[in-house]
Amino acid sequence: MSAFDTDIDASPEVLPQDIAGGASCHGGETRLRAAAAAAGKADVLAKYARDYPAGPHDQPQSMCPAFGSLRVGLRMRRTATILSGSACCVYGLTFTSHFYGARRTVGYVPFNSETLVTGKLFEDIRDAVHEIADPAQYDAIVVTNLCVPTASGVPLQLLPKEINGVRIIGIDVPGFGIPTHAEAKDVLAGAMLRYARGEAESGPVQAPRNGRAAKPTISLVGEIFPADPVGIGMMLEPMGLAAGQQVPTREWRELYAALDCAAVAAIHPFYTSVYREFEAAGRPIVGSAPVGYEGTAGWIENIGKLCNVGRDGIEAAKNRVLPAIRAALAAAPIRGRITLSGYEGSELLVARLLIESGADVRYVGSACPRTPHSEIDREWLAERGVHVQFRASLEQDLAAFAEFKPDLVVGTTPVVQKAKEMAVPALYFTNLISSRPLMGIAGAGSLAQLINTAIAGKARFDEMKAFFGETGTGESAGVWHDTPRAHPEFRDSYRRKLEKQTKARKAEEMI
Ligand code: SF4
Repeated sequence: MSAFDTDIDASPEVLPQDIAGGASCHGGETRLRAAAAAAGKADVLAKYARDYPAGPHDQPQSMCPAFGSLRVGLRMRRTATILSGSACCVYGLTFTSHFYGARRTVGYVPFNSETLVTGKLFEDIRDAVHEIADPAQYDAIVVTNLCVPTASGVPLQLLPKEINGVRIIGIDVPGFGIPTHAEAKDVLAGAMLRYARGEAESGPVQAPRNGRAAKPTISLVGEIFPADPVGIGMMLEPMGLAAGQQVPTREWRELYAALDCAAVAAIHPFYTSVYREFEAAGRPIVGSAPVGYEGTAGWIENIGKLCNVGRDGIEAAKNRVLPAIRAALAAAPIRGRITLSGYEGSELLVARLLIESGADVRYVGSACPRTPHSEIDREWLAERGVHVQFRASLEQDLAAFAEFKPDLVVGTTPVVQKAKEMAVPALYFTNLISSRPLMGIAGAGSLAQLINTAIAGKARFDEMKAFFGETGTGESAGVWHDTPRAHPEFRDSYRRKLEKQTKARKAEEMI
């Protein structure tokens, strides 16, 4: 049992009207959790606590988790998305999803204290779902409860499972139950896979758009660079296998194809509920991914054995790609010390590739949790003396930066910002690193030019730092019409005021 479970206090004193107008991701988490438990969501929260263990602290400093599931839904063809939550949350999520290129509308069912308390919100959601459930347009409708409706117990599980042949998927994605946006992707992908598995078990289902694969396939779990499945297919071919469906999928019928595989590649290891569905369908799962020379060799070996491929086939697959990977790595060496952190779940794979390219990686922080499918990569990195921190906090990432004094920081926005302030070159993990090919031959050497150019930019940072000095830092930050002057007397008087208040409070406590 995690610390999360113990926090679920089904206090009947917390009522929906108490939370309708207040709590958010900036505070009130315990209250929301208690309210949700009291409102009938204790089971959902306990499941999330098992699937997405928290700790060493509760939640990495990251974006609203619901962005993850929203993105998965918005990328799917013939899938409608409806959010139920506070208007400010929906505004932020909609803005972000369109900023990242979503081409679909986000539906919204608004609420107020009255509709929340009386249960009218649920009726409004049900009406909205009925209104848009047009099988000519949609295969599925995804309805997502954000923080406040989850805390109020809006019972999406009571929505019809299907209307006119359109599947209805209701999920709770509260910030106080799902630690990262990565894991929220798993909530929706897992819910869809579960639904599709039920359909496949009870009768014939739609074939994939391009027909069923002629060879046994390996389903690929995780959002990977579009060229990566092609490279993976090339290395599987000598073993008589093919790259299968990617999960999260882009269309409902692809879910059946994903389930119809010989084995599953857990490329991103945090998809706990997705893996549960594959296991329930009897599909074996392999962790790690074909990154670098050793990663690719190990991955081919594991996949081959799992799929009962003969030794000749396994060796043929290795011979097809390993020499070229070795040559690509040697042709593009990386020199320099790097600390790396991110929240995409692929941080350990990137670290492996950097190390095989020659980089001196000291620290890898991931906002995602340790799972059985991250073990291969964690062990590989630990054997090379790399500190791997799961559920890494910003403070831990910054402490690693301070301790290891890297030549380059690869990290999240605040970590990159800190490094640049200190005149250390830095690259954003999400935008610049995780959006490149990483697997097989295409991946080997793909990072070198970017990383080496960034490290070589150190002199420019030093020049800028020397030019600007302390301008715009600390108390002189901001827009000033005159040259800012320090006022130590203000600081002294404020300190005295605080001391007085503390003394007065203590005196009151003693009365
Ligand atoms: S839904 Fe997201 S943005 Fe809104 S309160 Fe919850 S975590 Fe914060």
